[in-house]
Amino acid sequence: MGKAQGTDISAVVEEMAAAGFGNLEETILQCADCALREGATNPVIMKGSRTPRVLFIGEAPGKTEDMTGIPFSGRAGKKLDEMIGYMGLSAEDYAVINAVKCRPPKNRKPLKSEIELCRPFLLAQIRMLDPEVIILLGNTAEEAFCRNKKLEWGVPKVSGGMNIVKIYHPAAMIYQRSRIEEQKALIDKNRHLWE
Ligand code: SF4
Repeated sequence: MGKAQGTDISAVVEEMAAAGFGNLEETILQCADCALREGATNPVIMKGSRTPRVLFIGEAPGKTEDMTGIPFSGRAGKKLDEMIGYMGLSAEDYAVINAVKCRPPKNRKPLKSEIELCRPFLLAQIRMLDPEVIILLGNTAEEAFCRNKKLEWGVPKVSGGMNIVKIYHPAAMIYQRSRIEEQKALIDKNRHLWE
Protein backbone atom coordinates (compact mmCIF):
# COMPACT_ATOMS: atom_id res chain seq x y z
CA MET A 1 0.00 0.00 0.00
CA GLY A 2 1.44 3.40 -1.01
CA LYS A 3 0.55 6.74 0.47
CA ALA A 4 -1.58 7.88 -2.45
CA GLN A 5 -0.71 11.52 -3.14
CA GLY A 6 -3.56 13.94 -3.73
CA THR A 7 -6.04 12.02 -1.55
CA ASP A 8 -7.53 13.37 1.68
CA ILE A 9 -4.66 13.10 4.19
CA SER A 10 -6.84 11.89 7.07
CA ALA A 11 -8.16 9.00 4.96
CA VAL A 12 -4.60 8.05 3.99
CA VAL A 13 -3.47 8.25 7.61
CA GLU A 14 -6.41 6.12 8.81
CA GLU A 15 -5.72 3.53 6.12
CA MET A 16 -2.02 3.31 7.00
CA ALA A 17 -2.75 3.13 10.73
CA ALA A 18 -5.34 0.39 10.24
CA ALA A 19 -2.87 -1.68 8.20
CA GLY A 20 -0.56 -2.05 11.23
CA PHE A 21 3.08 -1.46 12.15
CA GLY A 22 4.54 -3.99 9.69
CA ASN A 23 2.74 -2.48 6.72
CA LEU A 24 3.66 1.06 7.71
CA GLU A 25 7.30 0.08 8.08
CA GLU A 26 7.26 -1.57 4.65
CA THR A 27 5.61 1.51 3.08
CA ILE A 28 8.23 3.82 4.59
CA LEU A 29 11.08 1.55 3.51
CA GLN A 30 9.78 1.60 -0.07
CA CYS A 31 8.97 5.32 -0.15
CA ALA A 32 10.80 7.56 -2.60
CA ASP A 33 8.32 10.44 -2.57
CA CYS A 34 10.97 13.08 -1.94
CA ALA A 35 14.61 13.53 -2.93
CA LEU A 36 15.89 12.69 0.57
CA ARG A 37 15.58 8.98 -0.14
CA GLU A 38 18.30 9.17 -2.83
CA GLY A 39 20.98 10.25 -0.37
CA ALA A 40 19.82 8.10 2.55
CA THR A 41 21.21 4.68 3.48
CA ASN A 42 18.29 3.64 5.68
CA PRO A 43 14.96 5.30 6.37
CA VAL A 44 14.68 5.64 10.15
CA ILE A 45 11.30 4.65 11.54
CA MET A 46 10.98 4.41 15.34
CA LYS A 47 12.34 3.01 18.55
CA GLY A 48 10.72 2.21 21.87
CA SER A 49 7.35 1.00 23.06
CA ARG A 50 4.41 0.43 20.73
CA THR A 51 2.10 1.46 23.56
CA PRO A 52 3.91 4.55 24.88
CA ARG A 53 2.46 7.09 27.28
CA VAL A 54 5.00 9.62 25.99
CA LEU A 55 6.02 10.07 22.35
CA PHE A 56 9.12 12.09 21.47
CA ILE A 57 9.26 13.60 17.99
CA GLY A 58 12.61 14.77 16.66
CA GLU A 59 13.60 16.40 13.38
CA ALA A 60 15.30 13.97 10.98
CA PRO A 61 17.97 11.26 11.04
CA GLY A 62 21.62 12.26 11.30
CA LYS A 63 24.68 10.36 10.12
CA THR A 64 24.65 7.64 12.80
CA GLU A 65 20.89 7.15 12.54
CA ASP A 66 21.18 6.86 8.77
CA MET A 67 23.74 4.07 9.19
CA THR A 68 21.93 2.19 11.98
CA GLY A 69 18.30 2.82 10.95
CA ILE A 70 17.58 3.66 14.62
CA PRO A 71 16.39 7.13 15.70
CA PHE A 72 18.58 9.04 18.17
CA SER A 73 21.39 6.49 18.12
CA GLY A 74 24.19 9.08 17.88
CA ARG A 75 25.44 11.90 20.13
CA ALA A 76 22.06 13.60 20.35
CA GLY A 77 20.62 10.22 21.32
CA LYS A 78 22.89 10.11 24.39
CA LYS A 79 21.53 13.52 25.40
CA LEU A 80 17.98 12.30 24.81
CA ASP A 81 18.67 9.25 27.03
CA GLU A 82 19.95 11.57 29.78
CA MET A 83 16.81 13.68 29.40
CA ILE A 84 14.56 10.62 29.58
CA GLY A 85 16.43 9.48 32.70
CA TYR A 86 15.85 12.91 34.24
CA MET A 87 12.16 12.63 33.34
CA GLY A 88 12.00 9.29 35.19
CA LEU A 89 10.54 7.32 32.27
CA SER A 90 11.01 3.55 31.89
CA ALA A 91 11.57 1.81 28.55
CA GLU A 92 7.91 0.78 28.27
CA ASP A 93 6.76 4.38 28.83
CA TYR A 94 8.03 6.02 25.67
CA ALA A 95 8.74 5.86 21.94
CA VAL A 96 10.89 8.02 19.69
CA ILE A 97 10.24 9.00 16.08
CA ASN A 98 11.31 11.77 13.69
CA ALA A 99 9.26 14.21 11.63
CA VAL A 100 11.16 13.13 8.50
CA LYS A 101 12.33 9.56 7.98
CA CYS A 102 15.30 9.98 5.59
CA ARG A 103 18.52 11.88 6.31
CA PRO A 104 18.84 15.33 4.74
CA PRO A 105 22.22 15.91 3.09
CA LYS A 106 24.86 17.39 5.42
CA ASN A 107 22.27 17.31 8.22
CA ARG A 108 20.49 20.36 6.83
CA LYS A 109 17.02 21.16 8.12
CA PRO A 110 14.32 19.36 6.10
CA LEU A 111 12.54 21.54 3.55
CA LYS A 112 8.87 22.38 4.06
CA SER A 113 8.04 20.24 1.02
CA GLU A 114 9.93 17.27 2.49
CA ILE A 115 8.21 17.66 5.85
CA GLU A 116 4.86 17.81 4.09
CA LEU A 117 5.50 14.70 1.98
CA CYS A 118 6.59 12.73 5.03
CA ARG A 119 3.77 14.03 7.22
CA PRO A 120 1.26 11.21 6.55
CA PHE A 121 3.79 8.76 8.04
CA LEU A 122 4.22 10.95 11.10
CA LEU A 123 0.46 11.24 11.60
CA ALA A 124 -0.06 7.50 11.05
CA GLN A 125 2.61 6.74 13.67
CA ILE A 126 0.95 9.10 16.16
CA ARG A 127 -2.43 7.50 15.44
CA MET A 128 -1.04 4.00 16.01
CA LEU A 129 1.09 4.78 19.04
CA ASP A 130 -1.75 6.82 20.59
CA PRO A 131 0.30 8.50 23.36
CA GLU A 132 -1.03 10.62 26.22
CA VAL A 133 1.79 13.14 25.82
CA ILE A 134 3.67 14.28 22.72
CA ILE A 135 7.01 15.97 23.31
CA LEU A 136 8.11 17.98 20.30
CA LEU A 137 11.89 18.20 20.25
CA GLY A 138 12.44 21.61 18.67
CA ASN A 139 10.93 23.75 15.97
CA THR A 140 10.98 21.29 13.06
CA ALA A 141 8.95 18.74 15.02
CA GLU A 142 6.56 21.55 15.91
CA GLU A 143 6.30 22.64 12.27
CA ALA A 144 5.58 19.07 11.17
CA PHE A 145 3.00 18.36 13.86
CA CYS A 146 1.31 21.74 14.31
CA ARG A 147 1.85 23.20 10.82
CA ASN A 148 1.25 26.94 11.19
CA LYS A 149 0.46 27.00 14.91
CA LYS A 150 3.22 28.17 17.26
CA LEU A 151 3.74 26.79 20.74
CA GLU A 152 5.62 28.51 23.55
CA TRP A 153 8.63 26.57 24.84
CA GLY A 154 7.50 24.34 27.67
CA VAL A 155 3.87 25.50 27.64
CA PRO A 156 1.59 22.49 27.06
CA LYS A 157 -1.52 22.53 24.87
CA VAL A 158 -4.20 19.88 24.60
CA SER A 159 -4.91 18.70 21.06
CA GLY A 160 -6.88 15.63 20.00
CA GLY A 161 -7.01 14.46 23.63
CA MET A 162 -3.19 14.53 23.93
CA ASN A 163 -0.97 16.94 25.82
CA ILE A 164 1.51 18.54 23.44
CA VAL A 165 4.62 20.30 24.70
CA LYS A 166 7.68 21.69 22.91
CA ILE A 167 11.12 21.51 24.50
CA TYR A 168 14.64 21.83 23.07
CA HIS A 169 16.10 19.29 20.67
CA PRO A 170 18.76 17.20 22.49
CA ALA A 171 21.39 18.40 19.98
CA ALA A 172 21.02 21.87 21.50
CA MET A 173 22.43 20.43 24.75
CA ILE A 174 25.63 19.46 22.90
CA TYR A 175 26.38 22.85 21.41
CA GLN A 176 24.90 25.15 24.08
CA ARG A 177 25.63 23.90 27.59
CA SER A 178 23.43 26.65 29.07
CA ARG A 179 20.48 24.88 27.48
CA ILE A 180 20.90 21.90 29.85
CA GLU A 181 19.56 23.79 32.87
CA GLU A 182 16.89 25.49 30.76
CA GLN A 183 15.76 22.09 29.48
CA LYS A 184 15.60 20.69 33.01
CA ALA A 185 13.41 23.64 34.01
CA LEU A 186 11.04 22.97 31.08
CA ILE A 187 10.88 19.28 32.07
CA ASP A 188 10.25 20.07 35.75
CA LYS A 189 7.43 22.43 34.80
CA ASN A 190 5.70 19.65 32.87
CA ARG A 191 6.32 16.58 35.05
CA HIS A 192 2.66 16.37 36.02
CA LEU A 193 1.87 15.40 32.40
CA TRP A 194 3.60 11.99 32.65
CA GLU A 195 4.00 11.31 36.38
S1 SF4 B 1 11.80 11.49 3.85
FE1 SF4 B 1 9.74 10.60 4.04
S2 SF4 B 1 8.65 11.24 2.15
FE2 SF4 B 1 10.87 11.52 1.79
S3 SF4 B 1 11.48 9.58 0.82
FE3 SF4 B 1 11.88 9.38 3.03
S4 SF4 B 1 10.03 8.38 3.83
FE4 SF4 B 1 9.50 9.19 1.79
